[in-house]
Amino acid sequence: MYTAIGYAAQSATTPLAPVKFERRSPRPDDVAIEILYCGVCHSDIHQARNEWGIAVYPLMPGHEIVGKVTAIGANVSKHKVGDLVGVGCMVDSCRSCDACQANLEQYCLEGPTMTYATPDRVDGSNTMGGYSDSIVVSEHFVVRIPQKLDLASAAPILCAGITTYSPLKHYGVKAGDKVGILGMGGLGHMGIKFAKALGAEVTLFTRSASKAEEARRQGADHVIVSTDAEQMKAAAGHFDFLLDTIPVQHDLNPYLDTLRFDGVHILVGLIEPVDPPMHAGKLVMSRRVLAGSLIGGIAETQEVLDFCAEHDITCDIEMLDIRQINEAYARMIAGDVKYRFVIDMATLKV
Ligand code: NDP
Ligand code: ZN
Repeated sequence: MYTAIGYAAQSATTPLAPVKFERRSPRPDDVAIEILYCGVCHSDIHQARNEWGIAVYPLMPGHEIVGKVTAIGANVSKHKVGDLVGVGCMVDSCRSCDACQANLEQYCLEGPTMTYATPDRVDGSNTMGGYSDSIVVSEHFVVRIPQKLDLASAAPILCAGITTYSPLKHYGVKAGDKVGILGMGGLGHMGIKFAKALGAEVTLFTRSASKAEEARRQGADHVIVSTDAEQMKAAAGHFDFLLDTIPVQHDLNPYLDTLRFDGVHILVGLIEPVDPPMHAGKLVMSRRVLAGSLIGGIAETQEVLDFCAEHDITCDIEMLDIRQINEAYARMIAGDVKYRFVIDMATLKV
């Protein structure tokens, strides 16, 4: 064991504050990482404030981790000291169930071990995330950061990137498809870039008319202001896919109307009950599909990092001093970030 430092919430109602805590020494299959950058995901806010009802305190968020390998266990073969590596939302899984065998560790039938606020599979300790100077993770859950990528802007690919890339690939989005991205925050702006790179005609649905020009710069061909009923109506029956990153309960019905028959509405933002109720007829009468998707497996996380390097895709980030993390949460809730905060971990040591 050794003493690590980081920022954690002690309860759902207290701000994040500096803490010292114990991390394990590397096991034979572990990689020890000095964290250089960590992205700030809206899930971190949901969890720090126990909005999903599953938080465990102290809760140290952070699952968009980029850093340098400082030590490896005796059995590690994938990474060596000095390598630049990433850790996303998961740090372990059962590794033997059908999902794990299919490289879909996120759907592990026993439940994956998440990067924070989950009991470690070996010693039962509460996992602590990436708002920290270091982390120790089994090598299978550590990915390689391609040399071509800027380290800080690569960090959000570990969650915002894979979460939008995975469903677009799974549903076979291809050239000419009409794809709508709902919400332009951390996930949404990456969704626009990936849909565009796959050759789709991309539309952003946003509450904020002021984001139109920015969306076009990200690669969107069109913008629909979702609060304008006329604009929503004019898009009826148009889309093949909707990728919905909205982080709160919202009315799905007007969005479903914009799908053509056989169209697919993919939820990634919402894990609460749908409210107001969804009109099932909107699915039944047009064979539409309402789907969900959770991050992506480890092999696919490596794939999306390589895809970003190959296609010159990066996240638009605002560098954050960790001492401003609570202000950053408030700004994210207000939609005031373009488009992902990334913590410069050097600020943890000043
Ligand atoms: P952000 O806060 O960065 O962006 C969310 C965007 O949604 C905003 O920019 C805004 O876009 C829109 N939005 C926000 N509030 C509302 C509202 N009240 N009504 C309508 N639209 C709204 O969040 P992230 O991109 O980091 O995360 C999005 C969601 O995805 C979160 O719930 C997060 O927990 C979840 N998530 C899910 C994962 C998965 O595996 N399924 C993985 C990672 C995150 P605009 O201003 O353009 O309308
Ligand atoms: Zn996330």
